[in-house]
Order: sequence, then C-alpha cells, then structure tokens
Amino acid sequence: MIDEKLLMIPGPTMVPERALQEGSKQVLFHRSPEFGKLFAEVNEGLQYVFQTQNPVLTFPAVGTGGLEATVANLFSPGDTILSVITGVFGKRFATIAQNFGLNVYKIDFPWGQAAEPDMIKEQLEQHPEIKAVFVTHNETSTGVVNDLVAIGEIIHQFNVLYVVDAVSSLGGIDLQTDAWDIDVVITASQKALMSPPGLTFISVGSRAWKAVEKAKIPKYYWDFINARKYLDKNPPQNPYTPAVTSIAMLNESLKMMQEEGLDAIFKRHQRLAHAVRESVKRMGLKLFAASNCYSNTVTAIIVPEGIDGDVVRKIMSENYNVVVAGGQADLKGKIIRMGHMGYVNEDNILQALQALAAALQDVGYKGNVEEGLIKAKELLG
Ligand code: PLP
Repeated sequence: MIDEKLLMIPGPTMVPERALQEGSKQVLFHRSPEFGKLFAEVNEGLQYVFQTQNPVLTFPAVGTGGLEATVANLFSPGDTILSVITGVFGKRFATIAQNFGLNVYKIDFPWGQAAEPDMIKEQLEQHPEIKAVFVTHNETSTGVVNDLVAIGEIIHQFNVLYVVDAVSSLGGIDLQTDAWDIDVVITASQKALMSPPGLTFISVGSRAWKAVEKAKIPKYYWDFINARKYLDKNPPQNPYTPAVTSIAMLNESLKMMQEEGLDAIFKRHQRLAHAVRESVKRMGLKLFAASNCYSNTVTAIIVPEGIDGDVVRKIMSENYNVVVAGGQADLKGKIIRMGHMGYVNEDNILQALQALAAALQDVGYKGNVEEGLIKAKELLG
C-alpha cells in the first residue's frame, strides 16, 4: 500500500470518496440498460459543466488524445490553422496539427503572459486561408488564463472555427461554450472534473460538425461521426467498449458538481487561488504569471535565487506528504506549480502552503514564511 499524499499538482487531482467507491464496484456490461442509464446521466452532467447543448463526445483517452481527435476530425491535410501559444500545451496542440499535415501559423506569446487578441486579429487579416484558431484556455505550464471572451470577439469577426483546449480549466474556471460561441472545447477527466485520468471529452458545435463532414484526415477510433451515431441512440452508447468503470466514477463526480453548482465551484476556485497567491507573495516569493492573467486552477511560483525548486518539491513530498509540480521545459527547477482545482478545500490549501513554507525553511530560505501562513489563514478562515 502506497502512503496517500495530498496531490496539489495541476492534474491528476484528488478524487472524492464517492467516486472512489464507484470504482470499487463490479464492471458493467456496456450494452446493458444499467450502463445506458448511467451514460445518459453522464452526458447530461457533461453538458452542464461544458455549459452547452452540443453533444459532448467521450473517448477513453487522456487530454492529448482529445486534442489529436479534434485535429483528425476537423481538417484535411493542407488546411491552415492559427495556433495561439502561451506555453507548453499551446505548443503541443500546434505540433499535433503539424504532424497531421496542416499548415500552422503560430503566435508565440512570452511565457507568463496571456494572448493578445489584437495580434490574433492581425494574423487572421493577413491570412484569409486560416480555417481555425487553436487557443489554450488555461496554460498549465505557466499558470496563465487566456481571455476567451476577448479572443472570441475577434475570432467571430472571421469565418473560422474557434477551438479551445480547456483541459486544465473546464469545471474550475468559467467557460460558457454556448454563450461564448466556441465551436470545439476539449477537456479531460483528471483535473477540475475530480476523476481519475483516462477520459477525454469534446464538445462539438454545429459549425464544427459541418467541418467534420468534409474532413479527410484518416481516422477510425477517433471518428466523431460514428461516436455521435452511438451517442444519439436511446439510451446513448459508445461505438466500442467504453471505460465503463471510469465513466461510473465520473458520474459521481459530475453529480457532486451539480449539487455544488457551477457558480459556487468557480467562486471556491477563485477564493482558494487568491489565498495561495497572497500567501506566497507574503512569503516573499514572486508569481510567474503576469497579474492580469492569474489562473484560478494552478499557480506558478518562482523559486528564489540560489534554491532548486526540484529539491523543495522533493522535501515537500517526502517530509510533508504534499506533492506539487515543477517547471516544464526551460522552467525546470525554476518554478513550482501548485494545482488547486477540482476536489480541493481550505484545509488542503493550508496544508500545501505549510509544506511549502517548511520545505523552503529547510533549504535555508530566509523570507518571512510565517507572514504568508498568517495571510492564508486570514483569507481562508
Ligand atoms: N492541455 C492542457 C492545458 C493541459 O494542462 C494538459 C495536461 O496537463 C494537456 C493538454 C494534456 O492532457 P493529458 O496529460 O491528459 O494528455
């Protein structure tokens, strides 16, 4: 038995007991009425968290699979897209598109900053052949949230599809798929949706379905049209064997989210994230993201000069049982990323901040960590 640690990474995240219990039940037959009922509930729950009337497709895969499925279903080789890159995950989406033979224009924004809608507009004006714009809602590698409403106002002036990677935001930060008229939204089970890794979800709107009908990139497993055909059955089904147990666990997490209500969930994320930011600032630490684009699901904290962030993380995990993530790519060792999304409460945040403070002191950090903890208690009390 592995000792249970508090996971404060930006996914996978802690799974509530109610969902864990579903995971310990016997496996269901995927064509049975019982599973049909359960999958129908899940689809309603997904439409609730996506804030959409669109069908939301479920595939057994992680988020990267959802990104790849989107590329394979919407385009033909040689199509052109614009990729808005604010960190590791924006870059990954662009690479997937390139690997499938698309022409990819990229706008690389400095890491730690949000995308500027005007620069997207410039590219769309210069390149009328662009068929879609890819945007990462919440850039998990830098703790930056992009303004989907402002970007949408630009995108909707052009005849292009608006495609959003919401893997680390959906269910933790407001994303109104229908009201904001976003054609495709992709997420995964293991972040704000409080479920284990292994499921990806893709909301596909009516304009996007027209593109799907024309798309020529080969696919079989990922085929949206086939997935939709089965989803439209009564009760809804999957073309192949779905991840029945993961879906049963997800159902419980989605029920909990509906009980809490999206507004309350977003406010909880906002309150906890604010407490993390204010606390670490009082400890004398700096945040990596610019102050106009702080994420409410993950905070990137700059490690002070002379301290190795990976050593701090190791101490946090081994001595204080709290797991946080490090920096990716060029940011390795330089930042610590604390996830605070999904099944997370005030006590978890305090525990994580206490572990951070203690580990920093252990490596000789001289900042006033106590002041940071007092601030956190004040904001969370
Ligand atoms: N997009 C974003 C914004 C992410 O944060 C992640 C994972 O952290 C992914 C895509 C990839 O998801 P997965 O690890 O489930 O493949």
